[in-house]
Amino acid sequence: MKTWGKQQTIDNVVCTKGFIEFGNKQHVSVYTFLTEGFSIDVGANTIPFLQETLLQQKPEAIILTHHHEDHTGNGAFVEKHLHIPQYIHPLSVDDMRVTANNPQYRRDVWGTRPAFHAEPLHETFHAKSTWDVLHTPGHAFDHVALFNRNTAQLFAGDLFVAPKIKIMLEGESYSTLLHSLRFIQTIDYGTLFCSHAGLVDDARSLIDQKIAYMEEFADEVMTLHRQGKDADEIVAQLLPYKAIMEAISDGEWSRRYLVETVIQEAPELFALV
Ligand SMILES: [Zn+2]
Repeated sequence: MKTWGKQQTIDNVVCTKGFIEFGNKQHVSVYTFLTEGFSIDVGANTIPFLQETLLQQKPEAIILTHHHEDHTGNGAFVEKHLHIPQYIHPLSVDDMRVTANNPQYRRDVWGTRPAFHAEPLHETFHAKSTWDVLHTPGHAFDHVALFNRNTAQLFAGDLFVAPKIKIMLEGESYSTLLHSLRFIQTIDYGTLFCSHAGLVDDARSLIDQKIAYMEEFADEVMTLHRQGKDADEIVAQLLPYKAIMEAISDGEWSRRYLVETVIQEAPELFALV
């Protein structure tokens, strides 16, 4: 496993991207952002470039978008070296005090997430600008997006990531994610920064596409479900190609979970339309 990083400043935001490359040349990546003197997320602790960046940037505070270890993995490193407050959604404050017990494949890639002290986020926080903390669960129960009222920048964490969903992580909620995506479209944001895609050009229309895709996919699943097909048959018909993550994660990410979640959450899904 090889890691490296790169940095770019866009709209007064220092965007730091950390990469992890595997033997087969496939790679994963995650961003941290520095703006108005604070950092959004701290990244995975398997990427030294992100740790060096934190030491160089010396942020005055950290806001964490959600508890996943690729976003919080350096929380203990920050606590040891920087002595600054780190904030997360109130639902995850207690969990951060305990080292995460994640499956081995995640520890191999992103590292463990050692215990550290986090403080609860409030609905707004004040840096140079006033920021709204928008609870946007679905990908994770504690997920927040951060909206700068002055600049209309939106830091969307893992809310967007890609315009289509073909696989889901155990614990994600399809209907809640869809609800959060619809909610975010009611916010008058300009630029959108994603924790895995960086600055997203034309984000508003891509999120519209994602919402439309999710609605259509749920319709297709429910049509087949009503015809008596089970989850495996629906997967074979709608998502015939196995994603790499499915093999790597020993099924923690799966097409089956995605389909089952749609079926289980159908009452909420269709009530929201
Ligand atoms: Zn995540």
